[in-house]
Amino acid sequence: MDYKLVCTKCGQEQGDTRFRCKKCGAILEVEYKYAKLSPRSVFKKNKKGLARYINLFPIKKLATLGEGGTSLRRILPKSIPDVDILLKLEMENPTKTFKDRGSAVEISRALELHAKTVCCASTGNMGLSVAHYAKRFGIRAVIFISKSASKAKIAKIRAQGARIAYVNGDFNSAQKGAEMFAGKGLAFMCGDYHFRKEGQKSVIYEIAEQTKGRMPDYLFVPIGAGTNFAGIYKGLLELKRYKVIRKIPRMVAVQSEMCAPLVNAYRNNKRIEHVTPRTAADAIAVGYPSFGFEVLEAIKGTKGSAVGVSDDALKDAVRMLEEYGVCSELGGGTGFAGFLRMYNEDEKAFKGKKVAIIITGNNEGRFT
Ligand SMILES: [Zn+2]
Repeated sequence: MDYKLVCTKCGQEQGDTRFRCKKCGAILEVEYKYAKLSPRSVFKKNKKGLARYINLFPIKKLATLGEGGTSLRRILPKSIPDVDILLKLEMENPTKTFKDRGSAVEISRALELHAKTVCCASTGNMGLSVAHYAKRFGIRAVIFISKSASKAKIAKIRAQGARIAYVNGDFNSAQKGAEMFAGKGLAFMCGDYHFRKEGQKSVIYEIAEQTKGRMPDYLFVPIGAGTNFAGIYKGLLELKRYKVIRKIPRMVAVQSEMCAPLVNAYRNNKRIEHVTPRTAADAIAVGYPSFGFEVLEAIKGTKGSAVGVSDDALKDAVRMLEEYGVCSELGGGTGFAGFLRMYNEDEKAFKGKKVAIIITGNNEGRFT
């Protein structure tokens, strides 16, 4: 669909290769000129995976490796009667995480702009996904990553032929490194920016299709940089705009208490402040979420919430998922842990409700 890139803060229109506003430095938004589409023609029903949603992407042709189309599985734990629990199994994507949805759109756009090199900052999963897509479509990849990131994940990124640029410090330091590199015109910027958000929103289109428009009452999503959460909210508003759905679920953001800048801001009604990540869940070890303010907006717009969970609770949640045949890495089970916490605190609130939980991935980090 036709679009323009605008700054989320000052509204100034931006060039196609920019990843931050040239005037104020804020992140950007893909602002569509929404075409008139009937509820039935919004999705390409004869296509599979993300190709079904090309009408709602900022690209003409999708560089796909079969991402999307992941299962929505119902589980019926005896300990949680009267709640309809649906798990969205994002480890079914090509590199075993939800990141592939964003990478497909980013690499599609990079190809349209004839980019020879892409780069991104990563805690591990995004780097693997971007490196995999770049390699398959003949583009070089440079991945900026903290020296303390998961060795197993770094080895997998390297195996995709990507160049690793090690950074002292945490994910946000890696982000600064990648931004300097891309800012010099050396690469097309991938990662937690506007184009990735467009790909990530596809997960909610799928849930709308899989539930035949009977959307869940609650949606639990892990928070790292917040791109997925922000994308899902945008997708929900689009589905409502095109009358594909009537109801918007309450969105709940979940973080580890050992890295909870967003939850802290929400609970204390303060602005988001950087924290030093101390969680063992490496996939969500992001001290300052780039899309944090959009996550707070989405929570407000959906009458949602934000909740923190301990790393021990994360481990328990991942073990419980295993009982249902769902293998998740520690960060991937964050949404489920958040649901368990809220359910245990107020069972009545969830009685008779439908709850969807995004299980974001299983690209094995430190937790084995
Ligand atoms: Zn601006």
